[in-house]
Amino acid sequence: MNKKQTLLLIVILAASSLANAQNKLKHEDTEVYEPVPNVVTPGKTNSDAPSDAIVLFDGKNLDQWTMADHRGTPATWDVADGILTVNKHSGNIETKKLFSNYQLHVEWRIPSNITGSDQARGNSGVFLASLGGGDAGYELQVLDSYKNKTYVNGQAGSIYKQFIPLVNAAKPPGEWQSYDVVWTAPTFNDDGTVKTPARVTVFHNGVLVQNNVSLLGPTQYIGQASYNNAKHGPAPIKLQAHGDKSEPLSYRNIWVREL
Ligand code: MG
Repeated sequence: MNKKQTLLLIVILAASSLANAQNKLKHEDTEVYEPVPNVVTPGKTNSDAPSDAIVLFDGKNLDQWTMADHRGTPATWDVADGILTVNKHSGNIETKKLFSNYQLHVEWRIPSNITGSDQARGNSGVFLASLGGGDAGYELQVLDSYKNKTYVNGQAGSIYKQFIPLVNAAKPPGEWQSYDVVWTAPTFNDDGTVKTPARVTVFHNGVLVQNNVSLLGPTQYIGQASYNNAKHGPAPIKLQAHGDKSEPLSYRNIWVREL
């Protein structure tokens, strides 16, 4: 046997031993039994909190909330008949508890007698991480976007001034709508620069409108968003009392699951 033949024989033997090893694999070899996922009891409907959720508003009170501009003071929006209505005169409210990564469910309703147009028609917002008073943070826009024209990166389901929703899934005024959100908080390096950007997935009325988009930074009303000087840790979830003159909208069934 010459050198070439020897080499060929080695290759054949190696291939056949690999084939034998593959033949010896069993289906059990790729089946794992740990860690066992926790048991979670889902709600009766998609509005109801699963058993492991933190209920932020259950229709009764605002015990989980505080004024955003004056943390520690009770939230003064209006609670009646199981729903929460924006009090435009008192300002934004936010959760007492701070969050990093989470799944959020929130329902909102533009009143059927809504007036106004463009951004001045049922404007509110869910700040997925509040970075202080006013509108500091990352805003998922709430607005009447049922046949109401505005800039598309400011309509309902947009990440305000950053990401246009994939579709317009808005319902008419007077009907309850839902957002289901998966929020991954940004992380930062010691020097304050961003390590991994915030990411968000949003379903509006069960329809995907934001698919794991990477945010450019906290929301900026004027100018480009960036993470400059934005380093932060766990943060509250904030609801916006927008200063437009239209009739105030309402919220209900707000719950969150920490991830
Ligand atoms: Mg808004």
